[in-house]
Amino acid sequence: MASFETRLFINNEFVDAKSGEYLTVYNPVDDSLVSDKISSAGEADVDAAVAAAKAAFKGDWGKTDPTVRAKKMRQFADMIREKAEEIAGLDTKTMGSAIGTQAMGYGVCADLFDYYAGLADKIHGETSYPTSAGKYKITQREPIGVCSGIGAWNVSAVLFGWKAAPALAAGNTFLYKPSEKAPLGTLALGALIKEVFPPGVINIVNGGGKTGQLMAAHMEIRQIAFTGSTATGRKIQEHAAKSNLKRVSLELGGKSPSVIFEDANLNLAVEKSMEGILANTGQICAMASRVFVQESISDKFIEGLADGFKKVSSGDAIGDPTLKTTHIGPIADKKQYERVMELIEVGKAEGKLVTGGVRRGKDGLYVEPTIFKQTPNTSRIVQEEVFGPVVTVHTFKTEEEAIEMANDTVFGLSACVYTESISRALRVTRQIEAGTIAVNDWYFPGPDTPFGGIKQSGYGREGGLEGLIEYLQTKTIQININTTT
Ligand code: NAP
Repeated sequence: MASFETRLFINNEFVDAKSGEYLTVYNPVDDSLVSDKISSAGEADVDAAVAAAKAAFKGDWGKTDPTVRAKKMRQFADMIREKAEEIAGLDTKTMGSAIGTQAMGYGVCADLFDYYAGLADKIHGETSYPTSAGKYKITQREPIGVCSGIGAWNVSAVLFGWKAAPALAAGNTFLYKPSEKAPLGTLALGALIKEVFPPGVINIVNGGGKTGQLMAAHMEIRQIAFTGSTATGRKIQEHAAKSNLKRVSLELGGKSPSVIFEDANLNLAVEKSMEGILANTGQICAMASRVFVQESISDKFIEGLADGFKKVSSGDAIGDPTLKTTHIGPIADKKQYERVMELIEVGKAEGKLVTGGVRRGKDGLYVEPTIFKQTPNTSRIVQEEVFGPVVTVHTFKTEEEAIEMANDTVFGLSACVYTESISRALRVTRQIEAGTIAVNDWYFPGPDTPFGGIKQSGYGREGGLEGLIEYLQTKTIQININTTT
């Protein structure tokens, strides 16, 4: 008997999938089977989840006062915090990310529920002063109805919280599909959801791409928030367009530049670049995977980064992800590992390997933190998302050249700029094409500000007030006040 939940969570009950289909997950540390009995939702299951969400929206939840919704959300946040480590362990088991990283993800998820609970009773409209024609107009922001989310596997808890928390604060009901690589942690939240929310308010439908497709094409889901690759994002948009034109927001891939000028604090730039490249084993959408360093400091920077990477490779920061001392675990699964190694071979063929570039150890899907230099900008390793602990370092002479190189990508998710000059920081951040930019830091999203991309990194925002507005629709009401004539 598995010590974790593997069924779907619909209408506050764990249920077997009517589809009779199951997902299988392995532990990337030793390739051992975690479970081959994870229910995978088919059409009838997704329909049941939508029906439950619809009934909850039309019933109690849709009519609940915002302050009551907020109270329940805060209660849920506290419960997540209490269980964070235990639940995080389930994701670590299936996708190998360090327990500390995943537990922090559940902490962020709890923070998101607290943050959006605070906004639940602050949803206001506007008033337009009437003209002589006597038309008095007000706008009100209303919930959309049945909303949904599909998540990637890298930080399941954060991706769930980014979507579910604002959806609920706005008064909607919700269904969520976690990735087939990391469904167990999200599923475990079902037991907590049941204690706090009425039936149907949050439903969890596991499954692979087929389940996601059923959601994106569903005629009664009014909105879908997607986090994942750009390729799948395109499909989501297509399914939405071909079905009921549901609202879509897309948090997609990135190939984020980090631009380091010669006046930067070099130690800080090295330290923050290490964080930005190695966090979650490089499996972060906003990772600083293309570094551009001004020529005069490039040797020193590369030396510092390579030393740092070598220390990580030889120490206990990389290894068993269930240990609290570990920061870097294995790559999530075989498919992902093979992709990382394939792109590393491209880097070796087209650029110069500085350090890493090999599998670490014989067991487990571990990759040595890797640096390439002198890779042409057209190389796949520079243009495609690796989603592993791999960085390409490039050099530039002038500010203009740095900006041009940084923007030479189809992505526009995030960026970093290192300089001691405030005017340069403001000048450069203005010209870099990205949804979020950190100065003298690596960008780490928080609940209070919007996160999201431009260009092929998607559209829509998660976090902050903008994240709430994604789950509201505006109604304008016009009142004729000239009724006496
Ligand atoms: P993915 O392959 O695009 O999958 C994302 C989700 O979509 C998974 O739940 C997947 O299901 C589902 N899916 C697959 N095919 C589908 C289809 N045809 N219709 C509907 N859903 C479908 O991405 P991933 O490999 O899981 O995640 C890595 C990507 O996510 C990277 O590109 C990364 O940059 C991006 N990401 C972006 C952000 C951000 O905030 N911008 C944050 C985190 C990750 P299964 O996995 O169950 O098959």
